[in-house]
Amino acid sequence: MITTDVENYPGFPEGIQGPDLMERFRKQAERFGAKIEDVDATAVDFTARPFVVRAGEQMFTADSIIIATGANAKWIGLEGELKLRGRGVSACATCDAFFFKNKNVFVVGGGDTAMEEANFLTKFAKSVTVVHRRDSLRASKIMQQKAKSNPKISFMWNSEVSGVLGEDHVTGLEIRNVIDGTKKEFPADGLFVAIGHEPNTILFRGHLETDSRGYIIVSDRTKTNIEGVFAAGDVKDARYRQAVTAAGSGCEAALDLEKYLEETHRENPLEKEITAASR
Ligand code: NAP
Repeated sequence: MITTDVENYPGFPEGIQGPDLMERFRKQAERFGAKIEDVDATAVDFTARPFVVRAGEQMFTADSIIIATGANAKWIGLEGELKLRGRGVSACATCDAFFFKNKNVFVVGGGDTAMEEANFLTKFAKSVTVVHRRDSLRASKIMQQKAKSNPKISFMWNSEVSGVLGEDHVTGLEIRNVIDGTKKEFPADGLFVAIGHEPNTILFRGHLETDSRGYIIVSDRTKTNIEGVFAAGDVKDARYRQAVTAAGSGCEAALDLEKYLEETHRENPLEKEITAASR
């Protein structure tokens, strides 16, 4: 929902905006009878059957579940970063770029997210400086080219943000050269942190096995350690993390879930829906 240009999802030769793609996914799923509850799951119980998912006061039960909670943005971990979050510090250019009209902003990171944020910010900001801890980018070639050919974007290599300056809002950054260790202050109006993500698995702690970074461990591609609970997408995939791989992974989990329901001889709710819809 918070990504801008998606250039690498098949079927969209001109690219598509993240929210537009999501809206299409949603409509397509609803056309086949998917019912979508726009709620935040707050607790789960996978110890008994049916499984239980709670969303505040609401309770849902399920014979089988696919977890596709994805991953969230990471922060650098600086004091000023936390203090000034929402007051110059952000992890979402799509959400906040508008507030940086004609301002000088910095982006931390060297991956696709950082390039995407930097490009988007140039629609509003006067200048965008990408601060990267190495001397080469991790981002895909097309995203690199886009950023490098944008006259508003410049790069600060082998550097990391070591301090965020300002009382009520960001006024500057302290940047450390990682090669010689020297630190220098730069005036800045904004800092966009784009250094990767962590999986949204806190909800499942104590229920599902996760690796040292918190990603759900699966066997046979989608199966978690609890029979009947499947995982799909970025919540179990630290490696590929693309919309298209997540969608493919969701398809795998859906097929595995259906097979599981058939094998456990429970009434398959999907079948019931499909039969009702086709009447
Ligand atoms: P990423 O590929 O993991 O890149 C994270 C970047 O942040 C790296 O350059 C890393 O530096 C840097 N970094 C990590 N921790 C840091 C720290 N503490 N301080 C400073 N720098 C730090 O993450 P991402 O850019 O969010 O992309 C994740 C995945 O989503 C990728 O597979 C990407 O291709 C995909 N994606 C695609 C699109 C698109 O196609 N439109 C958009 C966004 C993301 P190092 O390089 O030194 O490790």
